[in-house]
Amino acid sequence: MRTIDEWLASEETGKRFSHCLCCKVPLVEIDAPWLVNKEYLRGECVLEYAICQPCRDGVTNRLSSESKEAVRQFLEREIDWEERMKEFMLAHELTERFTACIACRTARKDLESFGISALFDSSGALVTGPLPLMVCKSCVTKMTAGLCAESRAIWRDFLAKYFEGPADDTGFFDLF
Ligand SMILES: [Zn+2]
Ligand SMILES: [Zn+2]
Repeated sequence: MRTIDEWLASEETGKRFSHCLCCKVPLVEIDAPWLVNKEYLRGECVLEYAICQPCRDGVTNRLSSESKEAVRQFLEREIDWEERMKEFMLAHELTERFTACIACRTARKDLESFGISALFDSSGALVTGPLPLMVCKSCVTKMTAGLCAESRAIWRDFLAKYFEGPADDTGFFDLF
């Protein structure tokens, strides 16, 4: 079984993420927390990055308040946080969080596509709160259904700027 460090390492380098995707500054030199986001499709990692909090805020701040509200409502309604946090506290391994979607509870082995997110503090220690978590693609699609066209475009531009290939809602969850 994969360890949490393996899950959260870069698949490309096999090591911890070292730089922010956007500002390119070494993460340990940034006096702020950072997020690691990875997307899997049919067992393969198709998108991965680390982003520092200031850069992440730079993207989310541009989203419309209606869009942010739509996502917030999804997170509140579709995720049983109380139940999940109880489970998280009882779990022996952090990797148990990746065995089922945080929202619909579909098992990972039954998912074609899913994403994982984790938060690190400014010193590089993994923060265990609501994150790390795993969410399936169809829940991300549901969550982003309430986004306005402008907010979608901001996200698409973000993906297009840093990654090659077709951009969609992939990874959107990571921004909230
Ligand atoms: Zn940055
Ligand atoms: Zn789901």
